[in-house]
Amino acid sequence: MSDEFPGVLLVGLTGGIASGKSAVADQLAEHGAVVIDADLLAREVVAPGTPGLAAIVARFGRGVLRPGEPAELDRAALGAVVFADPDARRDLEGIVHPAVRARAAELTRAAPFGSIVVQVIPLLVETGQRDAFDVVVVVDVDPAVQLERLMARNRLSAEQARARIAAQAGREQRLEAADEVVDNNGSPAELTVAVDELWNRLVRLPRT
Ligand code: ADP
Repeated sequence: MSDEFPGVLLVGLTGGIASGKSAVADQLAEHGAVVIDADLLAREVVAPGTPGLAAIVARFGRGVLRPGEPAELDRAALGAVVFADPDARRDLEGIVHPAVRARAAELTRAAPFGSIVVQVIPLLVETGQRDAFDVVVVVDVDPAVQLERLMARNRLSAEQARARIAAQAGREQRLEAADEVVDNNGSPAELTVAVDELWNRLVRLPRT
């Protein structure tokens, strides 16, 4: 896919929930990277008036809309529909994922020549996108650190946090896909040093 974006170094940034992806992405942006966040795009492509929202209503009915004008997606209602129904979930992903990828590609093409573009994609490995990137960066934390930070950030019990972690790909599978691993077990200051070092390596890579 790098051929698709001449003059750009395309970096995929991933990691488990609460591993520190946002923290790393923010620091890469400070260095000058163009950061594209798949979670934000997933909201954008189903905003009121979008073809994505129309497709969701066509598939799931008006029950997944909140009352009001303009009609907004009721995420809790939609979540309840797809939670226990794998076919419904697949259909939803079939609507949202292609729209997110198309928008990410559009934003990548709009990046200035010579840019380092960082796409933050929580499920990069699970969705088989490894080969779409010049460099895959995995933010890695030990399971105990991940659990503690997830509980603190989202105010979850240990049981709730474990369930969210279990829904994702295993740490080993992610690490196997990595070209670069950022260890985020240490302090925020140590993370800053690790990201500085990562940036120094990225800027030396050729833009294809
Ligand atoms: P992700 O985007 O991968 O879900 P975040 O960047 O939101 O993860 O980090 C998860 C939580 O851990 C946040 O509350 C963040 O402030 C905190 N955090 C991230 N890195 C560190 C660190 N090195 N030391 C302490 N807390 C951290």
